[in-house]
Amino acid sequence: MDNGKNARSIVYRYGIRPNTIYLNITNRCSNSCIFCIKNYSSGLSGYKLKLDKEPTIDEIWKDFQDSIKDADKEVVWCGFGEPTIRLDVLLNISRRIRKNYSHLVIRLDTDGLAQLRNKNRKVVKELKDAGINSISISLNAENEMKYYDLCKPSIEGSYQAVLNFIKECKKIFSDIRLTIVDVDSIDISECKIIADKLGCTFKVRG
Ligand code: SF4
Repeated sequence: MDNGKNARSIVYRYGIRPNTIYLNITNRCSNSCIFCIKNYSSGLSGYKLKLDKEPTIDEIWKDFQDSIKDADKEVVWCGFGEPTIRLDVLLNISRRIRKNYSHLVIRLDTDGLAQLRNKNRKVVKELKDAGINSISISLNAENEMKYYDLCKPSIEGSYQAVLNFIKECKKIFSDIRLTIVDVDSIDISECKIIADKLGCTFKVRG
């Protein structure tokens, strides 16, 4: 395991949630958000999250098993990139966690673009079948124009794809949270209205 300050970290912890373990498996993303932490930092909470290379399934599983503690309650897919960029790796490890650590909640923090990137798959069902319980989706803006200004997506149709993904998740997940970042140009109350209409909880990220 290499979760020290100077080594790249697959597994990390974040001060305010001592019983949560985070998994960082890629730095890739199809968006280039102006607020992305990668723009101004190489890590978080003393962990280096910029990866020299993407870890293999075996490396992720080993670091996870070495790091998990009895008191842990939750695993979160959230790192310095979009975890669903490595969808099959995410599904594989989620299945292992569900099988071997059935008490843990598995949460996915995502840009909501996995279905757009994998048009021939049933991504939401695959996430559910792999044992993921909870999904946090970056809504980021109240309309497409603002989303494009803020997130600079590389794939056409990304904002609508996020909304579609949320609706698909609502069909089979009960715990869905929409998030935005507190940026001046974003109308927080309009975003909250969207979350309410879609039946999701809502959070403004710091
Ligand atoms: S979606 Fe997340 S990882 Fe990707 S650029 Fe935006 S903030 Fe960064």
